[in-house]
Amino acid sequence: TTDAHPTGRHFLQIPGPSPVPDRILRAMSLPTIDHRGPEFGRLGLKVLADMKAIFKTRHPVMIYPGSGTGAWEAALVNVLSPGDHVLMYETGHFAFLWNQLATRLGLKTEVLGLPGAEGWRHGVHADRIEQRLKADSAHSIKAVCVVHNETSTGVTSDIAAVRRAIDAAKHPALLLVDTISGLAGADYRHDEWGVDVSISGSQKGLMLPPGIGFNALSPKAIEASAKATMPRAYWGWAEMIEMNKTGYWPSTPNTNLLYGLSEACDMLLADGLERVFARHQRWAAGVRAAVQAWGLPIQCADPAVYSPILTGVMTPEGVDADAVRKLIYERFDCSLGTGLGKVKGRMFRIGHLGDSNDLTLVATVAGCEMGLKLAGVRLAGSGVQAVMDHFSAHPGGLLQGT
Ligand code: PLP
Repeated sequence: TTDAHPTGRHFLQIPGPSPVPDRILRAMSLPTIDHRGPEFGRLGLKVLADMKAIFKTRHPVMIYPGSGTGAWEAALVNVLSPGDHVLMYETGHFAFLWNQLATRLGLKTEVLGLPGAEGWRHGVHADRIEQRLKADSAHSIKAVCVVHNETSTGVTSDIAAVRRAIDAAKHPALLLVDTISGLAGADYRHDEWGVDVSISGSQKGLMLPPGIGFNALSPKAIEASAKATMPRAYWGWAEMIEMNKTGYWPSTPNTNLLYGLSEACDMLLADGLERVFARHQRWAAGVRAAVQAWGLPIQCADPAVYSPILTGVMTPEGVDADAVRKLIYERFDCSLGTGLGKVKGRMFRIGHLGDSNDLTLVATVAGCEMGLKLAGVRLAGSGVQAVMDHFSAHPGGLLQGT
């Protein structure tokens, strides 16, 4: 019949938005309250403090109703002036889009990265940043922008190495890091790594629906924002920092998403971030074992920077990865990430983040394996067997911890 609908739970295996736990959905279903009332002030102070723990920072965190793209813009317009020279590193489609946004804002961007399709298979090479900054003796470069977890490829760059590169070049540029898909899934340390602005969003490791964007700041970034002259209104930090001191915002915050954020932080912090990171690493290793058993290349060509959040799977020449995804969606009710930009049709992405577990991932691998075979892809071996073997040999326990 025309109104037939799938039964059971949909497998949302894209690298964000990720599945939202029932506990968080229930928290968000509570009545919306007065965002200027006393109850809200307590909620505001709690989520602001919790997010400092998640970013591992002692400094202010900005919480915006907005998506990750908004938080990208917020970071740039607060610390830069019109026409400023910005160094960006292209690891994939999201780095490409951030550069496009910066260019549209009138910034003068310069892009580093390995050329061609190969560039999207590696992380940031910090030595290239160091070399470029050393050559900039006039200090015309005002900021270095990198993506921590490149969601389009499944590559997690070494941010501490980027900090060391900037320091080794004795360069005053600010370090701006997109950890939209990295935060609360991959190890992240805003203060320790000397990041000036960390950018994130709600719909990935935080296990929330889309709709919150974050900026975590450093004292140097706050100082820069007082002097920088790019036009900013909604995204301006100054008024927000003032009002956040008592748990309120200059405009209406997304109340129910903040209920969800409070619940998500309770879950993540009670579990402990190290356990959260360890289970993502374990899931990722299991999924990679499956891809390797199939004999298909992993999009990330450098094992040192494999993403704990998602794995990109390259399909053989002549096999349209989107056709495989469509088949898996239609036959098995499982959503996988599409190839973006220059890898469209050449790969698909399996998300393994947030509210997941071993059996969900075994089933996801099974859906992929059936779909690949139905699409006529000859596989070297069984990924399902490989992922089962991996999870069996590496116990995670009921709470999926270390
Ligand atoms: N940066 C990265 C690394 C992302 O993964 C995304 C979204 O997937 C974005 C930026 C853009 O964020 P949004 O789609 O929430 O605007």
